[in-house]
Amino acid sequence: MSAPRRVFIVEDQRLIAADLASTLRRLGYEVVGSAASGEEAVEGAVRTRPELVLMDIRLEGPMDGIEAAGELRRRLDVPIVYLTAYADEETILRAKLTGPFGYVVKPFNERELRAGIEVALYRHETERLLAEERAQRAAAEEFRLLVQSVQDHAIIRLDADGRVASWNAGAERITGYPADEALGRHVELFYTPEDVAAGRPRTNLERAAREGRAEGEGWRVRRDGARFWANATLTPLRDPDGRLRGFAKVTRDLTERRRGEAHRALLDQVTVALASSLDADEGLRRAARLLAPGLGDWCVVHLTDDEGRLARTIAAHADAARAAEVEAAGGGWEPAGPGPARALVTGRPERQPAGAPEGPAALPGLPAAAFVSLPVALRGRAYGALTLAREGAAGPFDDEELALAEEVARRAGLALDNARLYREAQEAIRARDEFLQVASHELKTPLTPLLLQLDSLALALRKANGLGERLSSKVDVATRQTVRLNRLVDSLLDVSRITGGRLELLPEEVDLAAVVRDVVQRFQPEARRVGCDLVVRAPAPVVGWWDRLRLEQVACNLLSNALKYGAGGPVEVEVVEAAAGVARLAVADRGIGIDEEGQRRIFSRFERAASVRHYGGLGLGLFITRRIVEEHGGTITVRSRPGEGATFTVELPVRALEGACPGPAP
Ligand code: ADP
Repeated sequence: MSAPRRVFIVEDQRLIAADLASTLRRLGYEVVGSAASGEEAVEGAVRTRPELVLMDIRLEGPMDGIEAAGELRRRLDVPIVYLTAYADEETILRAKLTGPFGYVVKPFNERELRAGIEVALYRHETERLLAEERAQRAAAEEFRLLVQSVQDHAIIRLDADGRVASWNAGAERITGYPADEALGRHVELFYTPEDVAAGRPRTNLERAAREGRAEGEGWRVRRDGARFWANATLTPLRDPDGRLRGFAKVTRDLTERRRGEAHRALLDQVTVALASSLDADEGLRRAARLLAPGLGDWCVVHLTDDEGRLARTIAAHADAARAAEVEAAGGGWEPAGPGPARALVTGRPERQPAGAPEGPAALPGLPAAAFVSLPVALRGRAYGALTLAREGAAGPFDDEELALAEEVARRAGLALDNARLYREAQEAIRARDEFLQVASHELKTPLTPLLLQLDSLALALRKANGLGERLSSKVDVATRQTVRLNRLVDSLLDVSRITGGRLELLPEEVDLAAVVRDVVQRFQPEARRVGCDLVVRAPAPVVGWWDRLRLEQVACNLLSNALKYGAGGPVEVEVVEAAAGVARLAVADRGIGIDEEGQRRIFSRFERAASVRHYGGLGLGLFITRRIVEEHGGTITVRSRPGEGATFTVELPVRALEGACPGPAP
């Protein structure tokens, strides 16, 4: 049984009110309060929240029942039933304006009272439901209009079978189908034939129904057959009992975004292709092969010589034979001639800029529904053209594609520029090496006889007593300087041999310990001169299969550096067999040291770490040393810190490169 309905009584005659209350209770209502005046009625009803108010029209006080009812209705949505003994026209009219729910005319019996109350409650309930429904319908309509007007998203409803049940403006914009063509059609209509054959529309619906949502991306088809890249979300619509009523589908057209991504990826690939080969033509060929299916059916690159004559053509097409044909025919291109770079032809004929010369319109055998031809500029000069062409029904190149093609042409120009700079640099290096070789040979030729002459002059002076010490010492100075010059020239000759790949070893059985002891001995006068304590530790023979003179050279270079950069501190030399089959020569000084950056450089040609002004030197000694050591299959390393000296360590395999080195058998 439902709870008793809650009634509030407004009646100024207390006896009648009490009688009414007991009648109501008997009839099964709950009396939540009563009032004798209009003011009390408003206050009491607002406080007790009854479901119905019984209101005597005639009340004590300034406010009669009609006024009290008006006030109450403004504050509460509660049905009011008037109790009247009689009613003149005017009172009835005033009462009507407050929108009452009924009248019970005094005197009334129980049945009339109950009927009045029940009818009022029923009417009130019905009106409330109606108002609610109207509000819901208005909201739904508003929502429908909102969905309808959305342009960027296709928002559609499908029935449980997947047929279109509602269609918005966005759906029309994206797919091209107007509502009357789309409604009732199966959602398959928008899928590609491949997807339909694979049963994808069904599986998507089933997945959404099963999992409560299905989202995915893929190609869909517009009304005109063009494809667009769609992101779609499918949500099942169920009634309160959980029965599937259909699906809501929201689709976005991401073709532009996807195309942008694809273009960026293509540009990256093309850039890598252009940079992947030092041979510019090879790079261009790889790039053209990426562009041919990527942006047009054809990609043809024409390159001119410095006079603007067509030098070569690179053509790419999915059909390699057709590409070769076009290439052989020179791409049918009339070169624009030298001069400033300018667009030859852009897009379709109607998109050609004014004054553009005839472009590769004559690409042989190309229907070229659309093409774009852009200058490939080398340092500002037209150096050729990059042409993209489409066959068949393909549309013209749009702005985005033109921008991409322009960027590719620009990068192709840069790649050609780089290739040319690289060639020029290589050429300069080759010329320099050749010059060094010739120059050092030319310098060497007079040096050997000069040294011999100085030698005999010194001898003659020593014999001819009396010519004086001064002349003799002058000859000594000349000899020392010439020896130095001779060493420099030898270094240059060695460098030429190394860069020309002509450093040859003449290995024999050598005791490294003996070689080094000997070299140290030779350096003692120089060490004394700079005040350096030069010691060698070579306790046992370390015998290997090496080129004796070259090892001497290695030891000399390291020792002269140690004395030169050793700042007069002690220099320690050590020769040991470091491990089985590995000989080690270490030269350690306590001089100026080398920072890390310098350590990385000093083994290369012409590299120095210390001030040239202060120390001089060509920066060749360590380069030659390293090559000699490596030629023996060994390594050279340096450990140093600025201001704390340096230790150079050479490690050589004891049985080095027997097979590789010519020479007598051990
Ligand atoms: P050069 O001594 O003729 O300049 P090297 O090739 O023999 O050429 O040496 C390259 C550079 O390495 C030197 O210019 C010097 O800066 C640095 N270097 C070589 N040996 C030492 C060392 N023992 N201590 C500090 N710096 C050194």
